[in-house]
Amino acid sequence: MERPAKYYEIKEGGKVKCLLCPVGCVLEEGKEGICLGRHNKDGKMMVTNYGETVSLNLDPIEKKPLFHFYPGSVILSTGPNGCNMSCKNCQNWNISQRKSPTIYVSPEKMASLSIAQGSIGVAYTYTEPFIWFEYLLDTMPLVREQGGKNVMVTNGYIMPEPLQELLPYIDAMNIDLKSIQNEFYLKITGGRLRFVQDTIVKSFEAGVHIEITNLLITGLNDSPEQIAELVNWVASISPHIPLHFSRYFPTYKLTNPPTSLEVLKSAYKIGKERLDYVYVGNIDISGTSDTVCPSCGTLLISRYGYSTQIVGLDESRCASCGQKINIIL
Ligand code: SF4
Repeated sequence: MERPAKYYEIKEGGKVKCLLCPVGCVLEEGKEGICLGRHNKDGKMMVTNYGETVSLNLDPIEKKPLFHFYPGSVILSTGPNGCNMSCKNCQNWNISQRKSPTIYVSPEKMASLSIAQGSIGVAYTYTEPFIWFEYLLDTMPLVREQGGKNVMVTNGYIMPEPLQELLPYIDAMNIDLKSIQNEFYLKITGGRLRFVQDTIVKSFEAGVHIEITNLLITGLNDSPEQIAELVNWVASISPHIPLHFSRYFPTYKLTNPPTSLEVLKSAYKIGKERLDYVYVGNIDISGTSDTVCPSCGTLLISRYGYSTQIVGLDESRCASCGQKINIIL
């Protein structure tokens, strides 16, 4: 479905410049942005991905991953075609890096589906949901009206102004912090680190529930020094932000071997030195997907795969010592 884009400026010679994300595509007549979702039509920027969804599924919230936001619930999960990064290890490259079939779901329809079948709302995920900006702006308030939550699973690559416009409607985000080094971002993702960091800080300051994921890629971002630097940066915002280290497997254009067990165990240990809640995903390492009280060590939530059991919480406090836990139930 085609709609006028919101953030762009008209340049000389019939060109348009997109102001939605830091890529800043400048497009001649008929040309499309690298996210595949907007183009220059008759000297105006038009959105072509409005409401066009690549997928609609009911997923466990833990799959996003969000471990501290309605644990054990399910959420309607959807997303557009395309992405504004071009990660060499993209797991979803077949829907993020090329055109793929979509179906149109209106904002009203999405809102009505958001609380069906026990869903707590809508997770905008799979590719890069911020490139769905105009659709999100129309859909998120309607989801809220139905009593649903809006969850973003994102690379965080958006300009500050559109981010600020959307933040009041976002309840929770899992933001990828792919590395703490800008060279990694430039070489592997095509993006730039500082914009992602800016999104994390601004979203946290706006009161959105934030969790962060860091995929550890063998030989690229998995040294103890880089892990410690990333952990320290997250801790400098808040030690209560949950951090998910994730195991990498070779995929798409990257052939580096899978993340070793030793690196994942070491990352978990480094993370726990500064942060209250650290997890390891994409692999089963005993205890690293459980939530324990940062004060007394009591098991609060036990997880195995997508099976979640709340065992030691009294509302949002540790049932044993009363410590306040950063969790929304
Ligand atoms: S949102 Fe798409 S068109 Fe706009 S600058 Fe980013 S990649 Fe380019």
